[in-house]
Amino acid sequence: MSTADDKFYQARITQRRDFASDLWMIRVETNGEFKFAPGQYATLGVQRAGKRSERPYSIVSSPYESEIEFFFELVPHGELTPDIYKLQVGDEMLMRKVPKGRFTLDTKSGRTNHLLISTVTGIAPFVSYVRTLYKNWKEGRFAGEQKLFLLNGASRSWEFGYLDELRNFAAEVPWLEYVPTVSRPWDDLKWTGEIGRVDDLIRKYTDLWGLNGTNSVGYLCGHPQMIDHGKGMLQRIGFTRELLKEEIYWIPGKETKTA
Ligand SMILES: Cc1cc2nc3c(=O)[nH]c(=O)nc-3n(C[C@H](O)[C@H](O)[C@H](O)COP(=O)(O)OP(=O)(O)OC[C@H]3O[C@@H](n4cnc5c(N)ncnc54)[C@H](O)[C@@H]3O)c2cc1C
Repeated sequence: MSTADDKFYQARITQRRDFASDLWMIRVETNGEFKFAPGQYATLGVQRAGKRSERPYSIVSSPYESEIEFFFELVPHGELTPDIYKLQVGDEMLMRKVPKGRFTLDTKSGRTNHLLISTVTGIAPFVSYVRTLYKNWKEGRFAGEQKLFLLNGASRSWEFGYLDELRNFAAEVPWLEYVPTVSRPWDDLKWTGEIGRVDDLIRKYTDLWGLNGTNSVGYLCGHPQMIDHGKGMLQRIGFTRELLKEEIYWIPGKETKTA
C-alpha cells in the first residue's frame, strides 16, 4: 500500500522574497530527485489536522538549478495560499514527487517563433524556459534558433517579480524580446514602459514582430479572462487550436480579485 511518504517530498524553504503584499517567491530543496521539463508544474500541499490541501504551481526555476522556485499570489480567502504565505525560510511543505503538465516549449513543430503571453504569476513557466535556454546558449548547446517573444502583464510594475532578470536577459541575448506592460499606470507614476492590458496589446506586438499562424506557436498563461481574450485575438490572425498552448490558473467566475 502506498503511503504519503511514497508520494511526497518534504520541501524545505531556503529562500523567500516578497515582491508586494500579496506576491512572493520561494526556493525549496527536496529530500530526493525531482526531474522536470521547463514549463511543468509541481503539486504543493500543506497537511493540517486530518486534512491535506494541494494545488498545482508552475515551476520558475530551470532543471539546471539545484533548488526549485515558485512565484505565488495570495488569494485572501483561498484554501491553501494563506497557509503557504505564512511559511518562512526553514519551514517545510509537501511536494508531490512527480511533476506534471505539457506547457513546455514546442521545439518539434518546426516553428521557431514562440509568442509567450502571461499575467502576473503566469510568468513562471516562461522564466523557466528562458533560464534554461540561457544556460544552454552560454554553454554552446543552443545557437539561438528558437526565438521567444514575451508579453507580460500586471496591474503595477512591482507585481512583475522577474522584471530585472528578464530585462537583463533580453538586453544580452538575440533570441528574446520582452515587453512588460502595466494596466494601472495611475497607481505607478514612475513606470515609463508599455501600458495597457496584455490582451489589448497582442495585435500591436504580433504586427511589430511579424508573428502569425503561419510562423509561430502561441502560449497563454495565468488569468482565465486574459487567456480567453488572447486566444480570440490569436485565432483571428491564424493561430489554430493546435498552435496554441494554454495554462489556466483558476476557474473563471469564482475570482476573489482581478489582476
Ligand atoms: C497548472 C497550474 C499552475 C499554477 N501555477 C500557479 C503559480 O505559479 N502561482 C500561483 O500563485 N498560482 C498558480 N496556480 C493557481 C493555484 O493552483 C491555486 O489555484 C491558487 O494558488 C489559489 O489556491 P487557494 O487554495 O489559495 O485558493 P482556492 O481555495 O483554490 O480558490 C479560492 C477562489 O479563488 C479563485 N482563485 C484562485 N486563484 C486565484 C487568483 N490568482 N486570483 C483570483 N482568484 C483566484 C478560485 O477560482 C476560487 O474561487 C496554478 C494553477 C494551475 C492549474
